This record gives sequence, C-alpha cells and structure tokens, in this order.
Amino acid sequence: DQRYFDYPTVERLLAEFKRLLLALVEGFAGEVSELPLLGAEEQRFLLEDCNSTGRAYPLEQSYVAQFEAQVAAHPQRVVARCLEAAYDYAGLNLAANRLGHALILAGVKVDQPVALLAERGLPLLGMIVGSFKAGAGYLPLDPGLPAARLQSIIELSSTPVLVCSAACAEQGRQLLSALPTQARPQLLVWEEIQASQVASHNPGIHSGPDNLAYVIYTSGSTGLPKGVMVEQRGMLNNQLSKVPYLGLSEQDVIAQTASQSFDISVWQFLAAPLFGATMQIVPNAIAHDPQGLLAHVQASGITVLESVPSLIQGMLASDHQALDSLRWMLPTGEAMPPELAAQWLQRYPQVGLVNAYGPAECSDDVAFFRVDAASTQGAYLPIGTPTDNNRLYLCGDDQALVPLGAMGELCVAGTGVGRGYVGDPVRTALAFIPHPYGAPGERLYRTGDLARQRPDGVLEYVGRIDHQVKIRGYRIELGEIEARLHEQAQIRDAAVGVQEGANGKHLVGYLVAHQGIAGDAELLERIKQRLRAELPEYMVPLHWGWFDSLPHNANGKLDRKALPAIDIGGQHSQAYQAPRNELEDVLAGIWADVLKAERVGVHDNFFELGGHSLLATQIASRVQKQLQLNVPLRAMFECSTVAELAEYVQGLQGSALDDDKVDRLSDLMAELEGL
Ligand code: AMP
Ligand code: MG
Repeated sequence: DQRYFDYPTVERLLAEFKRLLLALVEGFAGEVSELPLLGAEEQRFLLEDCNSTGRAYPLEQSYVAQFEAQVAAHPQRVVARCLEAAYDYAGLNLAANRLGHALILAGVKVDQPVALLAERGLPLLGMIVGSFKAGAGYLPLDPGLPAARLQSIIELSSTPVLVCSAACAEQGRQLLSALPTQARPQLLVWEEIQASQVASHNPGIHSGPDNLAYVIYTSGSTGLPKGVMVEQRGMLNNQLSKVPYLGLSEQDVIAQTASQSFDISVWQFLAAPLFGATMQIVPNAIAHDPQGLLAHVQASGITVLESVPSLIQGMLASDHQALDSLRWMLPTGEAMPPELAAQWLQRYPQVGLVNAYGPAECSDDVAFFRVDAASTQGAYLPIGTPTDNNRLYLCGDDQALVPLGAMGELCVAGTGVGRGYVGDPVRTALAFIPHPYGAPGERLYRTGDLARQRPDGVLEYVGRIDHQVKIRGYRIELGEIEARLHEQAQIRDAAVGVQEGANGKHLVGYLVAHQGIAGDAELLERIKQRLRAELPEYMVPLHWGWFDSLPHNANGKLDRKALPAIDIGGQHSQAYQAPRNELEDVLAGIWADVLKAERVGVHDNFFELGGHSLLATQIASRVQKQLQLNVPLRAMFECSTVAELAEYVQGLQGSALDDDKVDRLSDLMAELEGL
C-alpha cells in the first residue's frame, strides 16, 4: 500500500480539496477557518512519521560520571590541545576537581550558574568541567564584550561566583566593583586555585538531568540581553546524538572555534571528553582567518570543523588545501546559500557537509541535513530532519499544523527544549508554550523561524517571522539596538536595518534628531561611542543616515519595509587619495582585495569600507605573507587608514623585527579578544 507522501503533489492537493468540499457538502456549519486543513493521514505523517526520533542515550547519568569513566579508562590520553599546550584526561580531571572543591567550599549549589571569565583556552575548559564537578551550571563571559554588557549579564544572572583566569582577574575585579555589594559574586582566580592546597579527588557530586547545565546570553528585543537556560539532559542529548550521526570515535579531533558566548561552543568544548576523543581549541587569530584556519586544520589533524557560512565563504575564496584529516564540515548559525554548499562539495568532495540547525533555547542542534549535490539546486539549502529525541512541527495560527509545502513557524519539542529565560517568566511563557500535540506538561518552543516541508519530510529554512537577524552567525535583535538608540536624549526616532554589501550583510542605522538638534557627524560619533560601550562590536551599525522622519504605519509602528536604503558609496568622509609609495601601494591593494572595494585611498577609513574583525584578521595574515613581516592584529584596528598602517609597518621594519615576541599567537589572540 502506498504511503501518503508517495503520492504526487497534484494528487495529494486534489484529495485535500475533495475532503474540504465533502466537509462542506456534509453540512459543515462552523467558520470556514475552522475547516480541518489536514486529513488524518497527513496529520499522522507530520506528527509521527516525521518525528520518530527516539533513541536511548545515558541522559540520566551526569556529564561528570561519563567523563570520569573516560578518565579511568585512559588517564594518559590527550583530551584537549590549544596550540602547544595540552591536557591529558587525568590532568583535566585533576584541574577540574580542584575548581569543583573550591566552588563547593564557596557555597555553590547544584543548579546555580557559575560565571566564567577567560579567553578560550585550556583553563576555560577546566572551568566548565569544574563547574559541573560542583553540580553547578556555567555562564560563559567573553572577555571581549564591553564592560557594561558583562556587568548587566552578571547582575541579571545572580551568579554566586565569578571564576577568572589570572589574565582576566583585573577585568573581573573591575566588573564586580561597579556592582552593589549585596549583588556582588565572589571572585575566584583559576591559577590561584590550581596552586592552592584544595583537594583534587573526584568530589562525588552529580547534577541530575533536570539541573542547569549552562546559561547563554543572547540579544533581547526589549533592550536587555536574555539568558537562555539549558539543562543537563538537553546538553548531553545534543552531544551524544552527534556520535552516531557523524560516526565519531576516539580517533576524532573536534575543533573548538566558536566564542564561548555561542551555543555551538558547548559541544565543541565538551563532546570529545565524553567518548575518549580529543578537542582542539583554535584561538581567534586563527579561527577568524579562513586561510589560516584551513592550514591549522591540516596541521593539527582536526577531523570535525563547524563554522558559520560567512567564514566558509572565506575558506572557499582562499587557496585549496589538502585537508587530509577533515571528515566533516558543519555549517551552522545562519542560512547557507545553496551555491556555497555546491562549491564546498565540488572543492572538498571527501569532506561530508552537514547543515546543522538549532536555536540556543533548544540546547543547540535540533535538525541535521547531510548535503548532497542535488540538494544544492533549490532556492534554500535544507536544514533536514529532527535530531535524536527532538521533534519538529510547522505551525500556523494557534499552533495548527500547516499542510506539507506550506510555510509555518518551526516549533520544537523533545529533550532539547530548554528551561527558559533567566528571571523572565513572561518571555519564557511566550516562547515556551504547552505542546498542543504532546503529553500533558510537555512544552513546545516557538523558534520564530519560518520553514516549509518537502513531501519527504525534509525541512527548508525560509526566513524569520520577527526582526531577529543573523550577521556572520551573530544573533541580533534589531529591537535591542533600537532600544539603546531611543534612550539617547537627542534622538526622536531611530531604526536599525540590514543591508547587503560587498562584504556580506551588515547593519545600518536610521536616526531622527529632536527639533532644534543638529543631526551631524559629531552627534553621530557620540551615539556610536555610546553603543560601542554597551553592545558587542557586531551590534553597532556600520553605516548611518540622518532623516527628518521615519516611515510609520497606521498604528504608529515602524514600517521597516518602507525604510530607504542607506547610500553606502557616498559615505566616505575622505576624498580619494592615491598611494604615495610602494608600501602604501601594497597595503592599499590588500585592503581593496579583502574589503572588495574597487580602490582604496590612503585616507579611507577601514570601518567605513565595511571592515570588521574577521576582515582585519584576513588583512593581517595577508600583510604577514606579502611583506614577510609580523604585524600585530591590534595594528589593524589602531590604524584605521592605509596611510597610518604604512607608517606603523615602517616603524616595525625600522626596529628590524627584534620584537618578534609581539607576534606570538597568544599575544595576537589577547589583542583580538580585547577589541
Ligand atoms: P542561535 O540561538 O544563536 O543558535 O541562533 C538560532 C537561529 O539561527 C535560528 O533560529 C535560525 O534563525 C538561525 N539558524 C541557525 N542555524 C541555521 C541554519 N543551519 N540555517 C538557517 N538558519 C539557521
Ligand atoms: Mg544554534
């Protein structure tokens, strides 16, 4: 007997039409909108056949118990590397145990979040596992974020303890000093704990599957970042379900490339230690430079790499590399253009491509798609089918299922669904709703993503329902930036939009000044300064315009579709000035290449040309290669024009490279992080 979705689309549609007509003929008395849109068969297909994802994993056992079993089995095996440094399983366990005991002594309890402030590196891994050793969850703080944002996150999270690396201890103290004493968490320094007499045996405390695993803060539309709480069960399910899907074994080397404030960093840090494999922490200076990253993958034997499509685009624009060890590439975080996927398959056919989709609210990945050439021919690259123990539904109004092929809001049920937002029951209730098709008490997370489903059940991501955007994988609520702009006294109205430029998508800002206030370059500069002090770099719009008014619809709401495009070409504050010597000529050439500008004048501003941290890293590596000179990454930001950079480089050449310590990667890394 033929199954429902095996019928061709036309036949299926005719059958649906017939069913609706019959309902009418049989005297259906209700509203037309109440007519059952789905037949029983289609409903069963969408609810059950597409979601038969149950698979047993040891989710009731704590992360700590599973890790300690690996430690006992092979204490001397390497579990983690970062450049020249490494931990073996026993070493990581010992270091984590010490922090675990210190946290227990500090009074940390199961289910509390411990804030961690450190650059990505082996100590951060130790801090994460150490938090679990005390039964706690963790709250990663990226030291590169502005102080104001870190402070508001620490305050919002009510974390009892802040653990810092020695390098970040001063930053940590300053952050805490601005908080009211009663809200001030205790500060512990990792290196001091490691050097102390604290116990180092397994503490024997285990969190349960419903306990907090971590809190990740993401952009919030109402003006404050929102903390997503994920539980141990969901976290473990995300990590363990990748093992069979990707066929992972103890031979694998998983790259840790994402900032700790991204949800994808969690499994990158923590999956390998669960099954005897190795994780490799790749510092930002390498991880943000596509060419350098591929070279590092080759040199370090990484087998699994996960990356946002904008960076993969950079990898494909750079030279072909052997990539002998690489088995999997996982694009994630934003929609991958199908052409880009096709290019990857063509250039690296031996590396499997898996489109990974999932919101932080659902413990990271909830859908996977193994990309093949055929699937790169459509308008959208599929995101595939639900991951183990997760279920996906496309819903219309009132959570009614939409028919196959129609667009609906992608909703998630299952083990991955997280606990909700820290201290925000209202937003939690809006996004995490009772599951209309599930068991009593089960919840459904509304992603805000629009998707549609192919007849074979495969899902395609189509876009967003709201004003959340992704830029280079960064999740941004336009409303959060707008809220900050509205706070400024001189501003009567403001909006933020997204525009496509030569270097991909970027944010643009629309401003209206109050009567009598001059909307000029000077005021704009002050506004940008304030945004930079409060928001991450990627949330500060690149290009701006002053307007007399912004379009609003009849209800007074901002009419985003009617916002004009901001003219980027006309924004150069400087007239073109040609390079004046060979060095400037070389540098201007590199800038033009990387920034995809037709030409770059020696006084043109890096940021006005569309520059951002990813591109700065690329320029640094090109300068390094072409001039055989190590230019610290910091210089790329301190020198915002070719003329300034040329002067800087001349200074370096003059000092005959005796300061080659400057270019040690760790140094570079710290500089990039500090931006
Ligand atoms: P985050 O919480 O940072 O993981 O962001 C989740 C959001 O990123 C999703 O709701 C989507 O809008 C988008 N997203 C993540 N992965 C993908 C993907 N593979 N394809 C398209 N959009 C994605
Ligand atoms: Mg995600």
